[in-house]
Amino acid sequence: TSKQIRSNSTSHVRVVVRVRPFLPSELESKDKGPVPCISVLNADSDPGREKKSPRNECYKLDSFFSQENGLDSIFHGEVSNLISGVFKGSNATVFAYGATGSGKTYTMQGTDRQPGLIPLSMSRILSSCESSGSSIEIAYYEVYLDRCYDLLEPKAKEVMVLEDKDGQVQMKGLSRVTVRSMPEFSQIFASGVQRRKIAHTGLNDVSSRSHGVLSIIVSSGGAVGKLNLIDLAGNEDNRRTGNEGIRLLESAKINQSLFALSNVIYALNNNEPRIPYRESKLTRILQDSLGGRANPMSYHEAVHTVSLAARSR
Ligand code: ADP
Ligand code: MG
Repeated sequence: TSKQIRSNSTSHVRVVVRVRPFLPSELESKDKGPVPCISVLNADSDPGREKKSPRNECYKLDSFFSQENGLDSIFHGEVSNLISGVFKGSNATVFAYGATGSGKTYTMQGTDRQPGLIPLSMSRILSSCESSGSSIEIAYYEVYLDRCYDLLEPKAKEVMVLEDKDGQVQMKGLSRVTVRSMPEFSQIFASGVQRRKIAHTGLNDVSSRSHGVLSIIVSSGGAVGKLNLIDLAGNEDNRRTGNEGIRLLESAKINQSLFALSNVIYALNNNEPRIPYRESKLTRILQDSLGGRANPMSYHEAVHTVSLAARSR
């Protein structure tokens, strides 16, 4: 994690950590079993503790979810409150950030038994729509090596990112599909997830090497709001992974865009006058969904969900 991804009490972007349970393979590790890689200190009751060990890195968080917390508690604690804003025309973003294997995809998608933030959000939005007569569309795309691919189109068609004359970023030809029910959504989303895999045959597990962005667009009595749910590419340490060739190029791009994202979040959380959105494709696309724009009718919120793994050593 970059030290710049941290928050303060007036932050626009909340920083939340979820530690996933140990995997069966980690529990079977030969020695004394798995060792948690994270300890949580209370900044109020434990001031100064963080400085004790020079080897440890310390991050300030807005909220923490342990191995025992289900995904529904993250949804209720951090995501559900964004949804009412989306119905009033605001844009919000939830990111899952962390190394490969830390549980980003699990947090966003979940399983049949434990739905993740994507199905939980969708089902909440659908039920709110029933009572308010709003309509819902989705877009689903990935950003890979700084290019965008539409995952709702056959063969994951590339989409150009352009700026109109007002400086608004447009994704030219990105498809939007109307969604009326959960079964309908699950089917459309699953085919997008599948396309993400197929589009890069030959490269193994490329889905974790690209940023996957699901946008849920809610039109409600003239107001249009958007919730972005983003499974970010894994932030790998190249010294550890020994990456070469295309892997190294991918990693460089991933690290570049994650660094650009952390700079945007840092600038937003520190109320800096200039927010460096233009430094990467991802931050340019998300410009309308991160931080405030001068639009008194809508406010913008973003949640930065940081997923970290508890690892065996
Ligand atoms: P990432 O997308 O960050 O690479 P994954 O979401 O694929 O990581 O998770 C890595 C592994 O951890 C997977 O096997 C996944 O099933 C498991 N996992 C993650 N979170 C949980 C959880 N809350 N409960 C059980 N298994 C989990
Ligand atoms: Mg993943």
